[in-house]
Amino acid sequence: MRYSEYGKTGKMVSAVGFGGMRFDMKKSDEENAELVLYAASKGINYFDSAPYYCDDRSETILGLAFKQLKAGSFYIATKCPLSEDTEQKSYDMVRRSLDKLQQPKIHFYHLWNLRKTAHFDHAVAPGRLYDGLLRAQSEGLIEHICCSTHQDGAGIRRTVESGLFEGVLMGVNILNFMFRWDGILACNDLNLGVACMNPLAGGVIPQHSDALAFLADEGETPTDAALRFLIANPRINIALNGFTTREHVDQACRVAENVVPLNEAAMTRIKENISRNLNEICTGCGYCRRCPAKIPIPGYMMFYNQMLLEHKSREDMIKLVEAFHGYMGVADRVADAKDCIKCGFCEERCTQHLPIISRLTEMAEWEVEAEKIPKRLED
Ligand code: SF4
Ligand code: SF4
Repeated sequence: MRYSEYGKTGKMVSAVGFGGMRFDMKKSDEENAELVLYAASKGINYFDSAPYYCDDRSETILGLAFKQLKAGSFYIATKCPLSEDTEQKSYDMVRRSLDKLQQPKIHFYHLWNLRKTAHFDHAVAPGRLYDGLLRAQSEGLIEHICCSTHQDGAGIRRTVESGLFEGVLMGVNILNFMFRWDGILACNDLNLGVACMNPLAGGVIPQHSDALAFLADEGETPTDAALRFLIANPRINIALNGFTTREHVDQACRVAENVVPLNEAAMTRIKENISRNLNEICTGCGYCRRCPAKIPIPGYMMFYNQMLLEHKSREDMIKLVEAFHGYMGVADRVADAKDCIKCGFCEERCTQHLPIISRLTEMAEWEVEAEKIPKRLED
């Protein structure tokens, strides 16, 4: 297992992190805790959870395992939802997590799921969520304040340049990394910890192993290659994996044991390989930015990727617009797909030669249809 210091925290964290969001819900908490102990026995020392993961059982399961581990041999990360938006509420969430985890303190406590600038501004305003975390930190209940985010690279850079966080958890994998890479570079520049979640693109990579075979080196699967991409990346401290079985743990640890660090030349090769082999797919390279209508084109095109990679129908995508349109760098938009003036600037620059204008037209229709679906509560 590779270990590296998480930013300036002084904590040496394992390159493979345990994501506590995919426990087997048919098993008891005690049985699931066995999986946590197994991961610890393989050298994993970073365990991530959140309130409400796995029917709100995740923190409890981890707590059962932590009681059996030596203090100081593991690090706990958990999170506060943005809905807990007063100092008292976020402070109470810290206490709630500590009770479930049966621990005196949380090492890495995250402001959870920043998707747009407005979320950040609200959470850090006086008397709001961030102040509750400062209070918990002053009482020794949490050590390091971090955030998790689904913004694009520029959004992540803006967030971390605030100086309010010691580490960032972001959704990065071998297929979408170009979209968020500037965020990782910003964290590196500021010497902040970097944890990446969703290494297998929500199951897309193992489910499409034939189409994605080009990602793999000889003797490995595309899943191995995707894990290796994060685990071997010197710019990333932790690749967070949601484990359900011992085999999942073994696979990630096997990759970590045999890993050769990725250098810049290898990164360039991966970029070129993806561009060449996935020619309908937006790589998030960002060359189309500076749209005169201010449409966040990479965010929209990455969203469109889901239809292509996961073979989703138009109806599926309309439902996704309703449910998830606040993600993937479109949450912060000041212009919608319908605002495209068809100037052609983006298509001239697109490295993948994508039909951006017609895709935006299609997505504008999805947005109209999604508007007709009754609204969910914003978090
Ligand atoms: S064609 Fe549309 S999306 Fe592309 S740059 Fe022009 S206005 Fe923006
Ligand atoms: S230039 Fe093309 S591939 Fe690159 S982010 Fe824009 S749409 Fe995606």
